[in-house]
Amino acid sequence: MLSVGYGFDAHALEEGGKGLVVGGVTVSQEWSSKSHSDGDALVHAIVDALLGASGLGDIGTFFPETEENRDRYSIDFLVDVGIMIRDAGFEMISMDSVVILENVILAPHLDEMKRNISRSLGVKKALISVKPKSGNSLYPGQVVAHAICLVREVKP
Ligand SMILES: [Zn+2]
Repeated sequence: MLSVGYGFDAHALEEGGKGLVVGGVTVSQEWSSKSHSDGDALVHAIVDALLGASGLGDIGTFFPETEENRDRYSIDFLVDVGIMIRDAGFEMISMDSVVILENVILAPHLDEMKRNISRSLGVKKALISVKPKSGNSLYPGQVVAHAICLVREVKP
């Protein structure tokens, strides 16, 4: 059985702070994302896409805004979700994503983002796609991410 999952996330940007993390990469020290965790919108969207595809729920169920999760590196959530979907009997086939951000140019960081995501999930980098968009001045002061993921049910 094949199953598809979709994830969306958005965070407001603020000047200064801890730095802006996208796909596990600090892409700017000038901006940061307002969030309980590190505010990695791309990873949050991917987590929701994977959980949705495997019928497990959503990011808020597993990673609530508790003290334990404060300022957490979101790539850690992805490692946990990779294990959860495997335990639930699913294997990721592919993932595609879009990040809309006009304050920072993402192109130089794409390879490292894909490497972080593939390594966290234990899948080949070729299965991961990340497409940066400027947003054509429609999304100033925010980072927005959409992700879609296809999984296959693996028979024991
Ligand atoms: Zn988020």
